[in-house]
Amino acid sequence: MNSKYENISKESLGLNNDTEGIIIVVDLDNTLVGDYFDIMNNSAENRTPIFNTKLVDLLKKAKEARRKGHVSAIFLLTNNSDTNFIQFVNLLLAEKGVNGYYEPIFDYIMSRNHKERQKNFNKTGILNMNPPKRLEDVAFMMREIGEFPANLEKRVYFIDDIPNHEIRNELRNPQQYIVITPPFTGQEEDKTDFTPLLNKLDFHKGGGRHRKRKTLRSNKYRIKRKSRKVCRK
Ligand SMILES: [Mg+2]
Repeated sequence: MNSKYENISKESLGLNNDTEGIIIVVDLDNTLVGDYFDIMNNSAENRTPIFNTKLVDLLKKAKEARRKGHVSAIFLLTNNSDTNFIQFVNLLLAEKGVNGYYEPIFDYIMSRNHKERQKNFNKTGILNMNPPKRLEDVAFMMREIGEFPANLEKRVYFIDDIPNHEIRNELRNPQQYIVITPPFTGQEEDKTDFTPLLNKLDFHKGGGRHRKRKTLRSNKYRIKRKSRKVCRK
């Protein structure tokens, strides 16, 4: 699906040149926080979301990598439509930046009722409760934040408790679709294996673009050594 964007010049659109960094797309309910309806059943003063701390830690790591440029974007793509609740979660996750202002973790949030989400109507004309989650939604968010939506099928890491969103078939590598196991309710520990993504984020261990540069350098070095050998002969 990226091919339709690839022929447009980035410069003409005034977008950034970064077409390599990782893009993290996270679901909200039963992924990042416990069940929404469970939370809403509590009395008003106890409606604090239960966070999946394992995933929150990963997102904080991703945010750090975002500051350094190894991650291009962190998005929230949810089929929840309660914008007050979503903003509450967003505020609770915000971190105090170096300038003293609070910085949200998410670069952009797309909820169920966002105007760009696909509208599905069932046979009786009722709007579908669960619009698909597509690479096209990620492309929209990328353009919104001024990033070029190239190579998305290779760059997006999608995290959701539902194993069969449309985007699953659009991603290059099965490792890029991470299913929260078991779906997070706050009752049980999240047993998801985030290792492949964590390794990508940990650029000291050779993830992300750092690794690419290192490989290029070592290749160059190898070529030099080879040519030196040739000279000696
Ligand atoms: Mg969910």
